[in-house]
Amino acid sequence: MTTPEDLPIRCPQCGNRDARRSDRPSVLDGVMRLFRRVPYRCRVCKHRFYDVWLSPPPPKKR
Ligand SMILES: [Zn+2]
Repeated sequence: MTTPEDLPIRCPQCGNRDARRSDRPSVLDGVMRLFRRVPYRCRVCKHRFYDVWLSPPPPKKR
């Protein structure tokens, strides 16, 4: 069994699977978040790209 977090994110530029979530959120990231897209950065070629949000956030209750 693999959890969504364990699924490899593939870099569209070089095809390497060593990509991590980008930790530098921008304004565009906030917009993309609405479309369930999160920023990733390839650790090999440093290419930054968006991919589908694999793990949906828990519903907020107010
Ligand atoms: Zn890459």
